[in-house]
Amino acid sequence: YFRALEQAGMHLNRHQIAAVRHGKGPLLLLAGAGTGKTTTVVARVGYLLWQGVPAKRILLLTFTRKAAEEMQSRIARIPGIAPALARGVVAGTYHSIFLRLLQSRGYNQRILSSDAFRETIIKRILRQMKLQDSYPAETLLALFGYYKNNLMTYQDYGGQGQEELDQEIRTIWMAYEQFKTENHYIDFDDMMIEMRQLLLRDAALLQTLRDRFDFIFVDEYQDTTPTQDSIVKMIATPKNNLCVVGDDQQSIYGFRGAAASIIQDFAKEFPRAALIPLTINYRSTSQIVGLTDKVILHNRSRIAKVMEATVQGKRPPLFLRPRDSEDEAEQLIAIMARGVRELNYRWAHFVILYRTTAYCRAMLEKLTERHIPFVYHGGQESFYEQRTVKPVLDYLRLALRSDDLAAVEGILPSLYLNREDTMRYLEAQMAACPAMAPLGLLLTLPGLKEFQVKQIKERIDLIGRLAALTPRAAIRLVRQQYDKYMEADQRSTLTVHREAIREALDELETAAQKHRTVAAFLAFVEQMIAESKGRERQAEDGDAVQLMSIHKAKGLEFHTVFVIGLIEGVIPHSAALGADQCSDRISKTAGKSKVREAIEEECRICYVALTRAKRQLFISAPEMYRGKDTKVSRFVEDMIKRGGKKGRRY
Ligand code: ATP
Ligand code: MG
Repeated sequence: YFRALEQAGMHLNRHQIAAVRHGKGPLLLLAGAGTGKTTTVVARVGYLLWQGVPAKRILLLTFTRKAAEEMQSRIARIPGIAPALARGVVAGTYHSIFLRLLQSRGYNQRILSSDAFRETIIKRILRQMKLQDSYPAETLLALFGYYKNNLMTYQDYGGQGQEELDQEIRTIWMAYEQFKTENHYIDFDDMMIEMRQLLLRDAALLQTLRDRFDFIFVDEYQDTTPTQDSIVKMIATPKNNLCVVGDDQQSIYGFRGAAASIIQDFAKEFPRAALIPLTINYRSTSQIVGLTDKVILHNRSRIAKVMEATVQGKRPPLFLRPRDSEDEAEQLIAIMARGVRELNYRWAHFVILYRTTAYCRAMLEKLTERHIPFVYHGGQESFYEQRTVKPVLDYLRLALRSDDLAAVEGILPSLYLNREDTMRYLEAQMAACPAMAPLGLLLTLPGLKEFQVKQIKERIDLIGRLAALTPRAAIRLVRQQYDKYMEADQRSTLTVHREAIREALDELETAAQKHRTVAAFLAFVEQMIAESKGRERQAEDGDAVQLMSIHKAKGLEFHTVFVIGLIEGVIPHSAALGADQCSDRISKTAGKSKVREAIEEECRICYVALTRAKRQLFISAPEMYRGKDTKVSRFVEDMIKRGGKKGRRY
């Protein structure tokens, strides 16, 4: 097997080989960035397949769908492994794999996939409690998610500050949970909890899964939440052929409830686990490794690791100090253009990494202005959540379940009804008489114009006809009516925009073509939305500069990396420093240790960013940001003092 790998150009080192040949039982690969952890997992899966382990008995959990696809295609490139065999490996994100499982068990709760609708629910609760100005809905949802992912419920909230405020948050949270229960919704955080409870309840299912999977792998293990971890360990018991791989210093989803302590404690939990160190960095030049090693020294809670670089670099990492973010964009473009012109680089050699979406506006505009090809992996929403696509799907959703309130909300604009008012009305009516269907209730809205009544009737009639059609025909039918609305709505906007809508809906039809029933198509759609949570959009083919958040760059590598906005307030983010993103009420309940933890997480984010670079690294800290003087990020400043070279251009 290893000879075959070598022939294919994979020369594993002796530690990697030991990990690949590891027999049964738990295995931990805890090692720094770029030391070949993911590569080792790929090689080990290939080895198992070579040994005749059936592909479908291997479960491979990755952090993003793209990572799963990438690993499957790398497995397929191993000599002697047919592509179909590689595809047989059960690979994907926790969300996608467990949603599939829940659905196959006839689990038909509606998935609350729209963040906007979740926020609407919270806002409504806040209004009822006369607290609408006290809490940002988004922060509350993140807070609930954080607790739930740590296996806690609203009863557990508190004990961190003033009892009165704790009680308030508990009440809001309880109301949110109640709303979901009453309306048969679950959100993504619930999905993991449901899965865990299902396994605790349903011994037969648990046994099936235990029998089904002989080998389980988790990549990026440092970003596992306690709930996910407990599911995985339940399924892995008693064989415990569980291989977990990660780097505690790259744990950057703490805000969502991931806990680096899980990987740090794995060896304690499984005293017989094999621990194989990977110490050779194959990714970055020695100068880059030298710098990143020092950045991470900022953190106290870390497991020390040895790392040697193998690549001698030609160009040292450079530090840029542009005037402002416009100038920053100009300088980066000049550097990239020179690379393309003089060094034969492709645009795709470059990636620009930023901490917050808001920060990259100037960069986006300049790239557009200068006609530099780029791919922006922005936003979390999937194709199916786009503003143009979602309402069409909502019509389909209503065809299956006419009481889907989230879907009703989605179609309101196409009926020229005001969202807020209408939802408030529906809510009040349904509270009085729960048996009423929200669609029919629309007809009783006070003050409807005659044309509106006619339109609502038309749409109810339309919805009634959809379920019997193929999904494609159903979409077409909705479009016939929906196009009229879009056309009217977009009258003032550009034809290009209309063109984009048309393309999106054509695309939707194409996607639907593969499915026989509306129900099957919608199940697929929810699956896709689940997978898109917290992961990147598919990169386009072709030669283009990549632009993405640091969080999305995890696990990836690029020839030349620019990390922009390395200033105090951006990295570390102001939310970590002073909690400005939280309202006062929440920050009052957060202790000092939270701040320290938050800054450690910012440091790890910085570490993840810098360790993506293979050959060249630029870090940039503009002197001015949003009209104010800036301070260079504490992480970078330190680095410069400790020997990073200061330079302007290359
Ligand atoms: P991260 O912590 O960022 O996820 P990682 O430990 O998973 O990093 P990989 O992505 O597996 O690291 O590997 C980093 C780079 O090193 C890749 O380009 C990979 O092809 C290369 N690599 C891994 N092992 C070897 C090896 N034995 N010989 C040469 N190159 C290797
Ligand atoms: Mg990796």
